[in-house]
Amino acid sequence: MNIHEYQGKEILKQFGVHIQEGIVANTPEEAVEAAKTLQAQTGTGWWVIKAQIHAGGRGKGGGVKLAKSLDEVKQLADQILGMQLVTHQTGSEGKKVLKILVAQDVYYPGEYDTQEFYMGVLLNRQSGRNIIMYSPEGGMDIETVAEKTPHLIFKEEVNPAVGLQDFQARKIAFNLGLTGTAVKEMVKFVNALYTAYVNTDATMYEINPVLKTSDNKILAVDAKVNLDDNALFRHADYAAMRDKSEEDPTEVEAKEWGLNYVKLYGNVGCMVNGAGLAMATMDMIKGSGGDPANFLDVGGTADAKRVETAFRIILKDPKVKAILVNIFGGIVRCDRVAQGVIDAYQNIGDIKVPIIVRLQGTNAEEAKALIDASGLKVQSAIALEDAAQLVTKAVG
Ligand code: GDP
Ligand code: MN
Repeated sequence: MNIHEYQGKEILKQFGVHIQEGIVANTPEEAVEAAKTLQAQTGTGWWVIKAQIHAGGRGKGGGVKLAKSLDEVKQLADQILGMQLVTHQTGSEGKKVLKILVAQDVYYPGEYDTQEFYMGVLLNRQSGRNIIMYSPEGGMDIETVAEKTPHLIFKEEVNPAVGLQDFQARKIAFNLGLTGTAVKEMVKFVNALYTAYVNTDATMYEINPVLKTSDNKILAVDAKVNLDDNALFRHADYAAMRDKSEEDPTEVEAKEWGLNYVKLYGNVGCMVNGAGLAMATMDMIKGSGGDPANFLDVGGTADAKRVETAFRIILKDPKVKAILVNIFGGIVRCDRVAQGVIDAYQNIGDIKVPIIVRLQGTNAEEAKALIDASGLKVQSAIALEDAAQLVTKAVG
């Protein structure tokens, strides 16, 4: 699950990471209040107004602007709130900005000895260990740094048996070219960041830029955080940070129904119970020359309502040219699923794509009889291979 910059920074602060302070706002009026409060707390007289969307590259897209007076705070808040922000990560349609972060300006105008670094913590799947990836080339697109100057990207791998060691944190500070108190500050920063990553069950923290201020503080100016969905059950406070307006509406709807849905790129819609069977079904479709449009696991209790919802979700994808329903009746009875398919078909009405249903297991024969007698344009099969061939033929 992705969270917003302001939420990521809240978490970082709880773990002792120094951050660029800020207050989230939903309206220009709130933004001005936030700016005043920040001024009282931090002494700042300049602010940055930052669009809160789940995508990077906001600065280049015009979603991060410096305000030098309360009037400018209001103007910029007015301009950024509601804008359709396009960045290299949003696609050409962009994302609508519903919240902004009013943050203290931490670049100390007139001073030249600030430095921007890149730092990310993530899992190296090859070694099975966490790594801290960092670069003195902060502030810019890290993909560009990786491509043009790969020698400026450093990696520090953490041994899980002993955790992050102080010498590693010091090495990071030295490789970033720091000296004096900045080294100590960076060691604290790295330790706190790594602790946050481990304790929040995150899959990634990316801080770009990490800023060395002119008075040698080390601050997180940005925060891209991804938390592991499978661990959210033990972090109710983080789970509550979910912002559904940032997610694919079809995937949100599927989640609400407890359906495991992943959109893919082909034209054969799939409805299957059980993740393993869903994978096998996709293989069979591929094997007979077709291409799955989605992965959809309706779960163990494929009742009529869930089947109907699953159909509606699959049909939202205009690329779908045929649907393959593949249910194994172990816990669930096939005739009940068949009835679900028939009901869904009638309730939705106007289904234009052919549907091939393959039910196997408890009461499979009864289920096939129900479908064949329903008079609907639904083809039934018992062998998966036959079903896969039928559906591939249906999409041409
Ligand atoms: P991103 O573009 O989505 O990665 O958003 P960031 O939070 O990284 O902000 C983009 C850029 O805005 C940063 O790289 C900085 O150069 C600039 N910026 C952020 N905070 C401040 C600030 O307090 N003062 C000034 N002058 N610039 C800032
Ligand atoms: Mn950034």
